[in-house]
Amino acid sequence: MEFTEFARRVERVEELKGDHEKTAEVADLLSAAEDDVDVVARFVQGRVFPGWSQHKLDVGPALLYEAISLASGASEQEIEEVVRETGDPGDAAAKLEFGSQQTLGGGADTVDEVYRAFERLADESGEGSQRAKVRVVADLLMDADDASARYVARLVLGEMRVGVGEGTVRDAVAEAYDVDVEAVERALMLTNDCGRVAETARVEGEKGLRALDIEVGRPVKPMLAQQADVEDLFDDLGDEAAVEWKYDGARVQVHVDGTGEVSLYSRRMEELTESLPDVVEQIESEVEDDVVLDGEVVATEDGEPMPFQELLRRLRRKYDVRETQEEVSVEVQLFDVLYRGEALLDETLEHRRRVLEEAGGDLISPSWRESSMDGVRRVERESLDAGHEGIMAKSLDSTYSPGRRGRNWLKLKPEPETLDVAVVGGEWGEGRRTDLIGSYHLAVRGDGDLLKVGNVATGFTDEDLDRLTETFEDLVVQGDGMEVEFEPKVVFEVGYEEIQTSPEYDSGFALRFPRFLGVRRDKDVKDVDSLGKLERLYR
Ligand code: AMP
Repeated sequence: MEFTEFARRVERVEELKGDHEKTAEVADLLSAAEDDVDVVARFVQGRVFPGWSQHKLDVGPALLYEAISLASGASEQEIEEVVRETGDPGDAAAKLEFGSQQTLGGGADTVDEVYRAFERLADESGEGSQRAKVRVVADLLMDADDASARYVARLVLGEMRVGVGEGTVRDAVAEAYDVDVEAVERALMLTNDCGRVAETARVEGEKGLRALDIEVGRPVKPMLAQQADVEDLFDDLGDEAAVEWKYDGARVQVHVDGTGEVSLYSRRMEELTESLPDVVEQIESEVEDDVVLDGEVVATEDGEPMPFQELLRRLRRKYDVRETQEEVSVEVQLFDVLYRGEALLDETLEHRRRVLEEAGGDLISPSWRESSMDGVRRVERESLDAGHEGIMAKSLDSTYSPGRRGRNWLKLKPEPETLDVAVVGGEWGEGRRTDLIGSYHLAVRGDGDLLKVGNVATGFTDEDLDRLTETFEDLVVQGDGMEVEFEPKVVFEVGYEEIQTSPEYDSGFALRFPRFLGVRRDKDVKDVDSLGKLERLYR
């Protein structure tokens, strides 16, 4: 397909408002593209390369304007003015003159030739690559007509702005080749390659689509989780759920091909293999060939999990990998399997877990089947004690849905533990509460003395305040203004959002948003929580 024809048709898609009309127009475009449909199915969404590909154009507006300037003769200042006027670099390019308005320059007339030019662009790296990239884009724009210039510019920046996303292309493929939309959806999930899916539908129809499968070495979108409250867990997941530790690391998809070659991909499907040679080694020695597994990489020190920041240092470091490796070691925890000789996405988690146990060697993370809140709480406690972030609860009979954030995987971060603290002072209230002590100073146990951690002024009912004021009036040891000091006799249980370090209090910590939960009559001041516990919770 000539690029000028593609541009003309995309212009029509852009003008249409309704979803059905857009889909029908895109279906027409795909049919007309014939054997260029793979490129067209991507281009119409503003994508140059397949989702799994590591190729990137890496072109920003500045480089684009330089190329427009070179091709049109307009100064960069003029170009920026037109961009401001039109509000879009593509519309700006369409307004400028690029010559004969017949074809694109640089010998690229068809969409496929434009695609090849983009491949050359992506391959440019290192010294002088900026100039070379400008040249490639300028060549494409040379001689371009308005619509072609608009869509070349937008493709370069990766945004078509015509209101066509993966969903529209999925529906359009089904319409253009008269295949089941569910078959298209499935093929997209497995291959992450809308061009290939469109081409397969065109040449082999539905049967061909159903034969498509995950390919080792081409990342699949990872399944995502939704935040939930522990209390609602069994409502969402049924009577029994898989409960796992939630690691504070980075998602990793592990591919091992038929020859044992390992590659690793991030949540955004970027290749991580080079940054994590130690993880590659662990996989090589433990994991079967010809599989795709899902997991989390976690930074550790002496076997203890380290904060996520430590891991980032490893992932950011492309060079001196070995050096950072010695500073921060990384372990992988595998929790799912997507492929073992064939895709397993349609299998239940229960089934996939059994496969994982056969394929993943010693690198599998623990998972428990729980049917009671007590059981879930126990796993949560163990996870937190081991230094992890919380728990994940998953539906045992759910399938693996790439890229979806559904209610089959729930992430449950813990309510912070409550604290039992001594009440060492207070403040008289204002306004409606002038004759009540409305705020209480709290302290934990230090080495022989009590150390302040903050004030609590919320969570009380009016009756609470009446009763407490009565109790504490008898305990005032000094203070005649607004602030009073108490003989420490009473223990409060308080909740809070977070523990922060703070120079304001002599404990060195402050509770963020503390709230009164009740008086611990069963506890004596010598039993209140210690500074050590505060430090542990803070960590
Ligand atoms: P969030 O990033 O807060 O949306 O939480 C979801 C992320 O938790 C996933 O993408 C994984 O990177 C991570 N994670 C840690 N442990 C697990 C686990 N056992 N199962 C699934 N995801 C996990």
